Order: sequence, then C-alpha cells, then structure tokens
Amino acid sequence: MSKHLTHHPDKAMLIEFAAGTLGTAESICVSAHLHFCEQCRTELMRLEQVGSQLMTEAEPAIIDDKLFDTVMAKIDHAEAAEQPAVVVSEQPVAGFPLAVSKLIKNKDYTPIWKRLSASVDIARFKTGQKDFEVALHRICAGGKTPKHDHHGLEYTVVLKGSFSDESAVYKEGDFLTRQPGDVHQPMGAQNGECICLSALEAPIKLTNPLGFLMKPLLRISPM
Ligand SMILES: [Zn+2]
Repeated sequence: MSKHLTHHPDKAMLIEFAAGTLGTAESICVSAHLHFCEQCRTELMRLEQVGSQLMTEAEPAIIDDKLFDTVMAKIDHAEAAEQPAVVVSEQPVAGFPLAVSKLIKNKDYTPIWKRLSASVDIARFKTGQKDFEVALHRICAGGKTPKHDHHGLEYTVVLKGSFSDESAVYKEGDFLTRQPGDVHQPMGAQNGECICLSALEAPIKLTNPLGFLMKPLLRISPM
C-alpha cells in the first residue's frame, strides 16, 4: 500500500484535518487519500504531534490567524520523524478506504448507480453536508467524459484504476483539487474501469435575479 503518489492534499488541508476543523466532505476525501498515501499519513502524525505540543504550551486565547504560521514554522524546523505508518486496522468493504466503506455501510443510504453519460455512472452519498455533493464516479474503460468546467471547488480521489486528462495521468490514491473555472475532460484508462470519490462544492446561487446589483454596494466600506 505504500506507493509513490504524485497528487496530494495541500498542507493547509492536512492541518485542518489534524485539527478536526475540516468539513465532512473534504475530510472523507482526505481520509480516502490517507488510506493510500504513506507520505501523508506520516505528515499527519507530525502535524498531530506539533498540534498537541502547541496546545500544551499555548494560552487558550492564542488561536488566531498566526496559528497557521506558527504551526508551519514548527513543522519546518521539526526533524523528519522516522515514524511507523499509521496502521489502518478496520477492514473496509469492497477494497475501498474505510471512510468510503463507512458511507456505503450507512443504513440510511444504499448506493445506487445512475447513468450520467454513455461512459460515466454516479452514486451519490448522503453526508449531511449541504455545501458539498459527495459521490462515486465510475468511468468505463477508455470512456470519455464530456468536457466540463466547475463552478465550485472539486476534490477527487482515485479509488480504483486510473484516468487521465489534458495534463496528467491520475492513479489509485491520487488526490486532485480543481479550482472553479478549471476546464477538463477526464478519460478512463484503456485497461479497466476507474472509480473515483469526489466532493463537489455546490455553486453559490443568487436567489434574487437582481442580486448582482447588490455587489457594488458590498464594496463600499463604511467609515
Ligand atoms: Zn499524500
């Protein structure tokens, strides 16, 4: 399970994960990646050690936006610890990471695959989080997805197989972050189906059709 992966969650995300402040949908994606990535598991352990050290030393009221810099400074100076990897002991179902298995095992939810296009099926999860849609995507071997862009952030973790787009090939365990406005056209590998976990941020909709008129007002800063 210790393969060299090239796409990881950024450090800010791991810090939030370690601190327990990351949202449910994002945490599910990070957990799924950790299942595959020894490098990030080791990093997470370092972060947790630094975090608990800070909690002991710091005054309770010190938590502000300097905390991030403090944590980063500590990490930069901390020696790369030779720690054994975190042992994932619980057995996941269907060879999926534990976080995904827990979702699948959720009694309120039975995963139902629905056809999204000729080559893509989707199974949506209920996470109780309204600002992200968490789902599994299955791309058939050699399948092309329609070219699309995003209105919100999207996190993707490859759970099985691989896919590629214009810029890279993404393999089992890889963690991708897509920014709003990124346009891409994923393609399934020729040698087998690809299953990905994704968390897609719901676009912010202006319910008032004239809502855009309010924007200039928001830029006025009261004196
Ligand atoms: Zn990683």
